[in-house]
Amino acid sequence: MSSFSAGKEVLSYCGKCKLPLGHTIVSMKDTATIGKVECNTCHAVHMYKDPATKSKKVKSTSRSTKKSKKAVSVGELWMEEMGKASGKAVAYSIRSTFNEGDIIDHKKFGPGIVQTLIDDKIEVLFQHELKLLVHGK
Ligand SMILES: [Zn+2]
Repeated sequence: MSSFSAGKEVLSYCGKCKLPLGHTIVSMKDTATIGKVECNTCHAVHMYKDPATKSKKVKSTSRSTKKSKKAVSVGELWMEEMGKASGKAVAYSIRSTFNEGDIIDHKKFGPGIVQTLIDDKIEVLFQHELKLLVHGK
């Protein structure tokens, strides 16, 4: 049991100093919860912030930010498209005609999904790259 009360020192995260520092308790929310604290370094009065909780939060936030900022790679897109695609893969041939959403099986590049039709060409998403192939010849 740790007892806190106004006037006692406690380790709290300081938003101004951006460090966990010694703070003096200014007020209590209730007998077990610290309310406001005053930073012993910069003398800013703010709500008590548990240094352990704060550092955890910072870590998880930066991790999720990184993830959302990262561009989706061809491989990830390919996985997603392959998961959504239904039907059997058709062996790619320059003589066959393909449509958007068709799954093709390319001798060299492996399975891919037709993304866009551009005149006599098809843009196919393969696991490692996006390729423009000729069809319907
Ligand atoms: Zn401070």
